[in-house]
Amino acid sequence: MSVKTWKSESLGIEIQIDHDKCEGCEQCVQVCPVGVFEMVEGKSTAPNIDQCIQCCACVNACPTNAITHSSC
Ligand code: SF4
Ligand code: SF4
Repeated sequence: MSVKTWKSESLGIEIQIDHDKCEGCEQCVQVCPVGVFEMVEGKSTAPNIDQCIQCCACVNACPTNAITHSSC
């Protein structure tokens, strides 16, 4: 298991990305309307979680269900 976790204290939300499941397709980067995700060495990361508007597009777009969002 290599599940990475990002938290927003201001929003009270959490995003987890399972890097074993992430295939680096960048769908999450493309669908997120506020630029939460950045690719690092072929895996998605969520450094800009404080910008999240909780639309759940990332969770729905990921083809491998690698993304878990506390609001979705
Ligand atoms: S959409 Fe899923 S598989 Fe594709 S880069 Fe994002 S987390 Fe990885
Ligand atoms: S829930 Fe929406 S705004 Fe938040 S990270 Fe996912 S796509 Fe971006």
